[in-house]
Amino acid sequence: RKADIECQLVVLGAGPGGYTAAFRAADLGLDVVLIERYAQLGGVCLNVGCIPSKALLHAAEVIEEAKHAADYGVSFGAAKIDLDKLRAHKDKVVGQLTGGLAGMAKARKVRTVTGKGQFVSANEIEIETAEGKKLLRFGQCIIAAGSQPVKLPGFPWDDARVMDSTDALLLADIPKQLLVVGGGIIGLEMACVYSALGSTVTVVEFMPQLMPGTDPDLVKPLADLLKKRGVAVHLATKVAKVEAKKDALHASFEGDKAPANTKYDRVLVSVGRSPNGGKIGAENAGVQVSDRGFIAVDRQMRTNVPHIFAIGDLIGQPMLAHKATHEGKLAAEVAAGEKREWVARVIPSVAYTNPEVAWVGVTETEAKAKGLAVGVAKFPWAASGRAIGLGRTEGFTKLIFDEASHRIIGGGIVGVHAGDLITEVALAIEMGCEAGDIGHTIHPHPTLSESVGMAAEVFEGSITDLY
Ligand code: FAD
Repeated sequence: RKADIECQLVVLGAGPGGYTAAFRAADLGLDVVLIERYAQLGGVCLNVGCIPSKALLHAAEVIEEAKHAADYGVSFGAAKIDLDKLRAHKDKVVGQLTGGLAGMAKARKVRTVTGKGQFVSANEIEIETAEGKKLLRFGQCIIAAGSQPVKLPGFPWDDARVMDSTDALLLADIPKQLLVVGGGIIGLEMACVYSALGSTVTVVEFMPQLMPGTDPDLVKPLADLLKKRGVAVHLATKVAKVEAKKDALHASFEGDKAPANTKYDRVLVSVGRSPNGGKIGAENAGVQVSDRGFIAVDRQMRTNVPHIFAIGDLIGQPMLAHKATHEGKLAAEVAAGEKREWVARVIPSVAYTNPEVAWVGVTETEAKAKGLAVGVAKFPWAASGRAIGLGRTEGFTKLIFDEASHRIIGGGIVGVHAGDLITEVALAIEMGCEAGDIGHTIHPHPTLSESVGMAAEVFEGSITDLY
């Protein structure tokens, strides 16, 4: 069969992994086709993930800050929400970024094809486009098909009041009573948004801690503030059933700490994401996919089929945009013949909640579990001039050092802008910094970034009187 499209490199999926790979490969001189089933490029992150959620979180932050300002004598009165305008703002932010991508693809002569792609052989993908099926023949391929929300079975998904994260970001209305099933990053970010907009939010988490896997001390200031704002958090509780009735969604729970309220106007299910590896006909290309839908790769992002690479959410945790982009760039460079491999030591994680929670490298919990000989240094923001000025002293900065070498191996920050602050810690780990290197670096005063330098000095013993 004659191919409708031929190219040196095809990228399947135009999320942060895919578009980065396509652009880098084109910059390196390859003839690239980018396949995306949706008309807008950008994948989950730009369309229904990182970007719209952060636009809404900013609005939520302004509302909370305005309330908080009353404490220092500046009162604004109750927030008036024009939902149509807020939604339009979020859509404009998304449109600006996805439109920019289309321009960048064009400038690089990356051919984009809108349609769903499926492998039919190790060198062919069939694309279902609006104009019918098209056969594409490629020399090399980068699979970047991403992930999708886990749809818990037994929930009445055909009822529009039951939402996944994509639905929640549509901002259809502000439910009076919102149940969030799953207290991970996405659930808590949306809890912050809807709570600020005026919903009464109940979060139910199956595990005994919010954001399971994160150091408990980092999560506590967030949990405390959520409680203060009236967000009810129920840990070690299972949502057994949700029934769609006319008056409301009726939920039943299992566990001693179950919510008393059983009627909700909307339910957001945010219990994780599953990779799309099993949905692209990978078997026709001979690419191995795990039962859960993940595709294994080597340090050059090659699958078991050497001319086919895979990147992003579908190759494993953490499912984060900045991991996908780095992998995309690497795969493109290898495909273009460069001798490269994955060398990143750490990948930072951030919950853009209010306050933000960020961590990178070895966590304290992990260090304890593995019996690592570490020193942990904490700098409480109650001792930070900037945090006091902001009225946000609930935060702290924690650094984890190898006890013998004094090299930094991990860190966690909770507080406003923690996500921006964690980058310094990531850089320090990548560069193999010792506590002294960080402590001796002059941080500008008064900034929250000083807390990183101070924590290192706490470890070195040059600051002792913090409490
Ligand atoms: P994706 O972004 O999932 O893109 C894959 C693309 O492939 C999609 O566009 C899909 O339509 C397309 N595709 C799939 N199958 C086919 C096919 N057969 N044919 C054609 N096209 C196909 N990460 C962060 O780092 N920071 C954040 O703040 C953050 N916030 C998030 C908030 C929410 C609500 C959600 C849901 C996620 C968030 N994430 C965040 C995660 C982030 O969105 C993902 O890690 C990232 O998008 C993964 O990129 P990717 O390129 O692997 O895949």
